[in-house]
Parts: sequence; structure tokens; C-alpha cells
Amino acid sequence: MTELLFLKDSYIKDFEAIIINIEEDCIILDKTAFSYRGGGLQSDEGVLETSSGQKYSMIEAFSKSGKILHKISPEPDSSLAGQKVNCKINWVKRYRQMRMHTALHAISGLLHKKYGSTVTGGNITPEKSRVDFEIDHLRQERVQEIIEEMKIIVKGDHKISTSFMERDEALKDPELIRTKVNLIPPSVKKIRVVDIEDVDRQADGGVHVSSTKEIGTIIPIKSENRGKNNKRLYFTVE
Ligand SMILES: [Zn+2]
Repeated sequence: MTELLFLKDSYIKDFEAIIINIEEDCIILDKTAFSYRGGGLQSDEGVLETSSGQKYSMIEAFSKSGKILHKISPEPDSSLAGQKVNCKINWVKRYRQMRMHTALHAISGLLHKKYGSTVTGGNITPEKSRVDFEIDHLRQERVQEIIEEMKIIVKGDHKISTSFMERDEALKDPELIRTKVNLIPPSVKKIRVVDIEDVDRQADGGVHVSSTKEIGTIIPIKSENRGKNNKRLYFTVE
């Protein structure tokens, strides 16, 4: 089992780890701060260096059959198993994803509080992000209204905190139920909860900034009407 360092601290930029195994041309580490692909986020990228100075690019981290695999280039050979590596995250990409991700959660909280609207999907890249939600209309003035409200949330410096809850307890929490905590596989006994003070609270396994202030300016890119109750908003952060 790989220890996931980013679940407790999203600000680790470099770390040391041991390669415990090599599988499918990927390495498995004893611990990792590389956030892996999933939950609408792209994988981190970065570099690894062995104690003898051999360098590898970390191209993608992903989860497969309960394991976290790191695809590296050049491809690893069996001599790497057991070696200690120094790992550095491409922080430019990661930090933009953190800002986008927290922005998406904050928009989700805002949409629910202001319009009773439910977010049905989303996707995050360092360049732009997308949020899908159910709402009667999304005309230009409403997009503007959402952006204005988000400015207030960003300025409000709301703190983001993470905690772990017992599954049974989480299944009774109304806000977590609203954000579909029940869809988390029953094998997960401890639920990680991401709380944006007074804005949003949901079960989540991804990386976030520590205050809404770090989101910066949210710029709407375009909005789409994809049916009566399915609206889509693309945005970026500056
Ligand atoms: Zn999330």
C-alpha cells in the first residue's frame, strides 16, 4: 500500500520515497505526494532522481486494482526496485489544478446555497475547467451573478480544511449525502472530507489550496445549455 502524502498536505513539492515494486512498466512507491489521475483531475507530472543521479520523468500517476502506479520515462528496469528516489512535483501544473479544484467546489457550494442547484459533473485541467449542473436557465446575467458571488467568496479568505470521518458517521451527514457520499465504495472505511469554511463541504480525495483567496480571479470562458436541467460552465483562473 502506498501512503498518500497529498491527502494530508497538498503543499508537499518534493519528497523522498522508496520504489517497492515495478509493475507494467510503472513503479510503485512506498509513499507518494504525486496526486494521481481521477475525480476529474489530471495526474501530476514531475521528476525522480535516484541516489546515483539517474533521472526519470514522472509522466502519469494512476490507480489500478487498488495500487498507485507511476509511469516513468525512460522505462524502469528491475534494478530500480528497492532504490530510494528523490521526487519533485511540477508545481506550476499542480498549483493551477489545486486552485481550479477548490474553485469548482466553491462554485458547487454557491450553486446549491443560492439556487438549490446540484452539480452533476466536472473536469479540471491546468488551463480550463468545466462544471455541469442542474438549473432552470443559465443566461448571461446569471453567469455574471455567479462570477460576482465567487469574487466575494475568493475575497472572503475562507479556509479549506480536510478531516477523516468514519463511513457510518459520514453517511448520516446531510451535506455529504447531498454530494453523494454513498457512491464511495463500501471498502473505504474512513471518508476524507474537504470543508471550505461556510461555503461547501464534501467527501473528496483531491488536492486543494488552503484558502479561497488563493483561487484568484475566476474568468468565465463559455456557458452551454445542454438540455432543460443540464447546464455547463467553462472557466479558468488568473
Ligand atoms: Zn473534488
